[in-house]
Amino acid sequence: QEASIGVTGLAVMGRNLARNLARHGHPVAVHNRTAARTEELVAEFGHEGTFIPAKTPRELVAALRRPRRLIVMVKAGAPTDAVIAEFAPLLEPGDMIVDGGNAHFSDTRRRERWLREHGIHFVGTGISGGEEGALHGPSIMPGGSAESYRELGPLLEDIAAKVDGVPCCTHVGPDGAGHFVKMVHNGIEYADMQLIGEAYDLLRHGAGLAPSEIAEVFAAWNRGRLESYLIEITAQVLAHTDPATGRPFVDVVLDRAEQKGTGRWTVQTALELGVPVSGIAEAVFARALSGHAALRRAARALPGPRPSRPADAGSFADEVEKALYASKIVAYAQGFHQIQAGSAEYGWNIDPGAMATIWRGGCIIRARFLDRIRAAYAADPATPTLLADEYFAQALGDAQDAWRKVVATAAHLGIPAPGFATALSYYDALRAERLPAALTQAQRDFFGAHTYRRVDREGSYHTRWAGDRAEIAV
Ligand code: NDP
Repeated sequence: QEASIGVTGLAVMGRNLARNLARHGHPVAVHNRTAARTEELVAEFGHEGTFIPAKTPRELVAALRRPRRLIVMVKAGAPTDAVIAEFAPLLEPGDMIVDGGNAHFSDTRRRERWLREHGIHFVGTGISGGEEGALHGPSIMPGGSAESYRELGPLLEDIAAKVDGVPCCTHVGPDGAGHFVKMVHNGIEYADMQLIGEAYDLLRHGAGLAPSEIAEVFAAWNRGRLESYLIEITAQVLAHTDPATGRPFVDVVLDRAEQKGTGRWTVQTALELGVPVSGIAEAVFARALSGHAALRRAARALPGPRPSRPADAGSFADEVEKALYASKIVAYAQGFHQIQAGSAEYGWNIDPGAMATIWRGGCIIRARFLDRIRAAYAADPATPTLLADEYFAQALGDAQDAWRKVVATAAHLGIPAPGFATALSYYDALRAERLPAALTQAQRDFFGAHTYRRVDREGSYHTRWAGDRAEIAV
């Protein structure tokens, strides 16, 4: 029997993706550099569907029906290049290599260009949902040619998560578009997690609630407009007691958050595109800060405010909910701005509403909220910002008093809330009639003759600051 598709790289992700394919009735050829993993997969899960084990790349390729579809699920970076180099000579024009790893989109662009020269389709594909998602239905973000999606799309849609019967998978756009969108997805995930962390911190150290009480607050929020996977697991983590010590689990975990790099990539790319993703940046920096043990030790004795406490924990929790919702809207608006900017820069023609649609299920940021983003882009596909959408504008307007109060309370109590604060600043900056950027530009003209434009006349001008201060048109 010929396999519909092959998977090489059978660590947690590849193995579960192969099982997902087999469970959906697709005969799948499987291969791993270390053959023991292949044997283990077939021995343990062979009963779930049709697996065709291959010992060598040549055997794997020989097992595939044409045009061949091969998913590469190995460690991102050099290993992906090595595996592509190994398989490419064994393939024929029209075949396709799908990279489901967390590749940087610029690597995907490079690989796509190279393989295209050999007539091979390269489909850089973002896959979110971790190992559980890979098995039960991930959110899938495939890039590459439209032709490759016609061949591959139905299969990927079959194994993707479904929300209201709609698969969480769609063709994102050419070459690196899929991995770009996956990168921004992860950046938004960082921001979302940071905001949730700040909400917890405010309830814990601002309102004085215990983790188990905060777990109940989050569980209640999860029944409302904040309903999402991340809020749900937060409630579960906060309700958990450490079996070894009997203490709240969150108190025995070292307060140092690690990162694998996709958040950093998002911010680096945003800097290059000139897109202000301040919420994602603060989240990446907050993780970095948490890891600087010596820095934190050196500053531990710095003075803080005199302790005081918000009067009523219940109403404060409601205000924090509003601040969290508003800040979340801003973080997502910034992420979607980056997707639109990347799409314009690289000519990808990405449909942002479709991205919100495929993130509703399967992935880490899955949430009811994404339906609102989908609706916003349906109402105005070209909107420069989600904040201008009628629903979001109203939600922000309703939240703003509480939002300001929470940010002020955080500052007052000496509790860091960079995510909430930067989101509010972004909101106010976009709203502002005039920005102090006028002063910045004037300073630039003063020290560097960088010129400025005027509000009342066309053209560029320079003031002779060092001389007679006369204005000259340039
Ligand atoms: P790992 O990233 O841990 O990679 C291990 C796999 O890569 C093994 O199959 C290993 O083979 C193979 N490999 C490593 N180097 C080479 C090489 N030079 N040549 C051939 N094979 C090699 O596996 P994961 O399953 O965790 O992730 C796979 C990909 O999916 C990664 O790119 C990851 O970033 C991405 N991803 C992971 C998620 C997760 O939750 N884990 C979520 C979404 C994406 P061997 O057994 O022989 O060592």
